[in-house]
Amino acid sequence: MESSKPETIKNIPTLEVKEVGYVREVKKGIAKVKGLLSCIYGQLVEFENGIKGMVVGFNLREAQVIVLGEERRINVGDKVVTFSEFFRVPVGDNFLGRIVNGIGEPIDGKGSIIASDYYPVFKEAPGVMAREPITEPLLTGIKVLDFMIPIGKGQRELIIGDRQVGKTSIALDAVINQKGRNVICIYCWTGGSHTAFESFMHRLKEKGVFPYLVAVCSSAASPPAEQYLCPYVAASIGEYFMCKGKDVLVVFDDLTKHAWIYRQMSLLLERAPGREAYPGDIFYLHSQLMERAGRLKAELGGGTMTFLPIVETLQGDITGYIQSNLVSMTDGQIYLNTGLFHEGFRPAIDLGLSVSRIGSRVQCPAIKELGKSLRLEYARYREMLRLTKLRTRLSEEALERMKRGQTLEGILTQDNFFPLQLSEEIILFYAYQRKILEVLTPPALEKFKSDIFDFTKHLQPRLIETIEKKGELTAEVTTALEGVFVEYFKKLKRARARGDAAAS
Ligand code: ATP
Ligand code: MG
Repeated sequence: MESSKPETIKNIPTLEVKEVGYVREVKKGIAKVKGLLSCIYGQLVEFENGIKGMVVGFNLREAQVIVLGEERRINVGDKVVTFSEFFRVPVGDNFLGRIVNGIGEPIDGKGSIIASDYYPVFKEAPGVMAREPITEPLLTGIKVLDFMIPIGKGQRELIIGDRQVGKTSIALDAVINQKGRNVICIYCWTGGSHTAFESFMHRLKEKGVFPYLVAVCSSAASPPAEQYLCPYVAASIGEYFMCKGKDVLVVFDDLTKHAWIYRQMSLLLERAPGREAYPGDIFYLHSQLMERAGRLKAELGGGTMTFLPIVETLQGDITGYIQSNLVSMTDGQIYLNTGLFHEGFRPAIDLGLSVSRIGSRVQCPAIKELGKSLRLEYARYREMLRLTKLRTRLSEEALERMKRGQTLEGILTQDNFFPLQLSEEIILFYAYQRKILEVLTPPALEKFKSDIFDFTKHLQPRLIETIEKKGELTAEVTTALEGVFVEYFKKLKRARARGDAAAS
């Protein structure tokens, strides 16, 4: 059609109809604009001094626009023009290794980013026909998660818990563990302190995460509009990579603060407050974001986008409004318990309340085999621990079960910022299954945990590679591992005979 047009017609620029209004009021990042009679929700507008805005509501009197920039530079009476497009953000490969703000502008002082494309912020999620079932695991390097609450590529798993219980740490460990696994990570920080964000970025840089990371940050001091758009922008940047057939992991830290900022904005927009003063469309706010995760069909590139949203609870109350909304729109939750955290069981994952609805379907055969009864064993141990507080004398059998539970607990704990390789996890749980660790005292168990991987690597250099590649406990692997354990315990015995304190 295009080529059949005469040359003169081709050169005529397309006509854009612009409406012009003027600012009637501006406060707290929201401008009320008169005169935009045919504006639509999500439309891009520009103020007289070049600052952009987005239409978020209108009534008979005026249009309500969120200001995407410094509101101090906008004055009452300024001219406002509309564009015939929705608000879009730049996306592209050049975003890797960069830190951008809530509207996709670089804030790391490394200069501008050349975009490959522009994606709408509120991009529609892929439809059912464009999706495929989730079949691949996303390994987090956290033993409790990989063995008992496995996450699949394309899944949404909520991290929920009180303040300071290690929510961010879990997400960061998952990001660190994607090193060398060909997964692009997007870390979205909204509404928190900028200092905390910088310290996390520092740790991530140390861990060599930046080549595959995009950080989207709009801390508490940023304009409300930026904080509101931040998670959607992060999702749009992730979508670019997903559409190119890549695996993407997006962390939203955290959505409670995102809901607060939306409530604040809605109250300023004079929308009717509903439950807990949140506006009526608060469920839609997060559900339209959550449905953008998933796995695309092979014909569409086969990319996946996994979401790890974080939400904060107040005194362990998971029935709060925002919290229960998010539980209902994700495929499982990792519930962190303050009591466990203070007991020293870290990561403080409550295995009774945590679940992954994609479940064991995505686990590799070795994890499936080693992890099948762990949850039950751990639940029994916790129950017994509770009962033994009342009784003083225990039977021989009960003592044995207690010892086994303690060993399991010892294996499950791990420090943050040190995710484990798949082979390391398999070796530890294989040792637990073989019931050889009960003889160890807690310090000796800690030493076993930290030494066994290097010990195996030294003794059987090719074994680690075989386990990583196949993820299977073949007869060859188990025989080799048994040999390693025998050697380890022989060495331990020799050290004990020498009176080495750490060994005992
Ligand atoms: P906030 O509510 O402030 O967002 P949070 O729930 O995200 O907190 P983190 O910031 O991840 O919690 O962690 C809180 C503290 O607990 C940090 O000092 C962190 O180092 C420590 N911590 C978290 N996980 C572990 C762990 N597995 N082992 C030891 N310390 C941990
Ligand atoms: Mg946190």
